[in-house]
Amino acid sequence: MSESDCLFCKIVAGEVPTDKVLENESALAFRDIDPAAPTHVLVIPKRHVASANELTPDDAAELAGMFQLIQGVAQQEGVAGGYRVVTNVGGPAGQSVLHLHFHVLGGRSLSWPPG
Ligand code: 5GP
Ligand code: ZN
Repeated sequence: MSESDCLFCKIVAGEVPTDKVLENESALAFRDIDPAAPTHVLVIPKRHVASANELTPDDAAELAGMFQLIQGVAQQEGVAGGYRVVTNVGGPAGQSVLHLHFHVLGGRSLSWPPG
């Protein structure tokens, strides 16, 4: 998939409206359109990366930026005491948007293992 066809690249570019929560230099956080928990925020790199399986050691600073944003989201949402960070990789794991995203889920008790 090219970046011009990518839904989350369009969100980064402001071409698709979204409910933004936070952003920093490398990452954007916005509410999932179909929330699975009271807090369900997606944290994505502003650069197109297909999945966590495409990350390399060169992406370390970008990845750290994403986790800084995740911590900020948890703080702002009032769930820092307990939340889940999930990323699906590939179709069998349920990845439906081929732009790396971390689901930040909280605000209810979360069972384990996930389905
Ligand atoms: P995945 O299934 O790839 O792990 O997660 C993709 C997530 O993106 C889903 O939870 C889905 O609800 C969310 N999503 C899909 N389209 C949109 C959209 O246009 N806007 C927002 N905010 N979330 C979306
Ligand atoms: Zn993209």
